[in-house]
Amino acid sequence: MKNRIVLLGPPASGKGTQAALLAATFGIPAASTGAMLRHEKSLGTALGVEAERWTAHGGLVPDELALTIVWQWLDGRTRFVFDGFPRTLGQAKAFDAGLKERGLGLDVVYLLELSNEAVRERMCTRLTCPGCGAVFNESFHAMTEGSPCPNCGVALGRRLDDTWESLDRRLSEYRSETLPVADHYESLGLLRRIDASPSRDALFHSLYEDLSENPLVEVTP
Ligand code: AMP
Repeated sequence: MKNRIVLLGPPASGKGTQAALLAATFGIPAASTGAMLRHEKSLGTALGVEAERWTAHGGLVPDELALTIVWQWLDGRTRFVFDGFPRTLGQAKAFDAGLKERGLGLDVVYLLELSNEAVRERMCTRLTCPGCGAVFNESFHAMTEGSPCPNCGVALGRRLDDTWESLDRRLSEYRSETLPVADHYESLGLLRRIDASPSRDALFHSLYEDLSENPLVEVTP
């Protein structure tokens, strides 16, 4: 069983949803650097205030900041699903080195591939729960802004960075900063490309099948 998993993909490709499904199915702790940053911002911590300076208009936070929250969360854990991290080559190389120091290595990196058009469409209909972080979509679920979250009852809303203005920046940053991360893991033999356009359940089925049936050659970064 693969226990150390990274999910890469453009905004709204379903990384958070799939990470939650993997966590629920295999009991692997899931973490999203985006969600951790939003949490720090909501608490008004120094880290959250610093993060706000960068994320307000769709920019990435500096690598050191992302790595700080990752190592804080990872402390003592040996299993994880990361969603939205590493997002830059600098983060990936520091992450690989830090894992190696801890005697760990990544088992697999999934790249969820989705066209720009599909990203735009999904983002406009995305609803998130400020209470538990669950993600829904108006097109697939009978709910809209203000509907109660089926998990915790808090009113669903839209992410502040889900705007047309920030989307262009996030997509271009994804292409210039995050796709090289996918190339990096491809060169290490760890990358699996997955079509993220099918439904949530079909996408999870692909991940599930791959996790259970295609053992990878172990590569120590
Ligand atoms: P996400 O929820 O993954 O879409 O992340 C929301 C926002 O948080 C991103 O648009 C970035 O501004 C920031 N962010 C999340 N993860 C990272 C990361 N690994 N490195 C830099 N910035 C990040």
